[in-house]
Amino acid sequence: MLKIENLSFSYGKIQAIKNVSFELKKGEIMAIVGANGAGKSSLMKCIAGLLKPQNGTIYCGDTLLEPIPFKVVENKVVLVPEGRWIFPNLTVEENLMMGGYTVNDRSPGIQHAYRMFPRLEERKQQRAGTMSGGEQQMLAIARGLMANPKVLLLDEPSLGLAPLIVNDIMSIIQEINREGISVLLVEQNARKALGIAHHGCVLEQGVIVKTGTGAELAQDESIIAAYLGGTKKKEQ
Ligand code: ATP
Repeated sequence: MLKIENLSFSYGKIQAIKNVSFELKKGEIMAIVGANGAGKSSLMKCIAGLLKPQNGTIYCGDTLLEPIPFKVVENKVVLVPEGRWIFPNLTVEENLMMGGYTVNDRSPGIQHAYRMFPRLEERKQQRAGTMSGGEQQMLAIARGLMANPKVLLLDEPSLGLAPLIVNDIMSIIQEINREGISVLLVEQNARKALGIAHHGCVLEQGVIVKTGTGAELAQDESIIAAYLGGTKKKEQ
């Protein structure tokens, strides 16, 4: 569905992504886990066309994605960015409409978003900036769905949220995936991400150092030591 080959990106002398290759299979959730500064957001921005890689290719199906944001969205690859970037002064409904702005076929549209996120319908006339962090994250995801993606790129959706809300967000990601949308999920919360991912990659200093199924990676001793709090049983 999404094939990344030999992708490299540098901010001047800082090489954030080094020769990264992986494939997100159709209908799957793939988690990219790694520490602060590993290059996760840079990778997502390259896929979304917000950064122009110095090397490498990105295919969605058979289509080569040009690093131009609106063209990436036209190809049904949609980023929900780290930090949400909702429009705080617009209402919930206006934010959703902005998400569907670039697409001609607005299906499945706002009603679908409200079915998936009933709380957003309750608050559709509320200014988005006055909602809780969890609600704002739901809005950011729902706004992404308005572009009718085949591939949803989720950058740190659990960041700054309480554990119970994180569980809700992970369930929503699984529900989205069950509807047929492939998901690339970038997370520092490796335990949660690997818990719902079909496959995963570990990114360290811009390099993919390990790949496997979500279950394999969650059981890997070195990953447990580095990212999962040092014990197989511990819940975050
Ligand atoms: P975090 O979870 O903290 O956002 P990350 O894994 O998403 O981390 P990136 O934000 O992609 O990592 O950063 C990768 C590397 O690129 C880091 O060394 C970071 O300092 C550097 N970097 C990120 N953005 C810039 C920028 N705008 N200019 C220069 N260097 C940057």
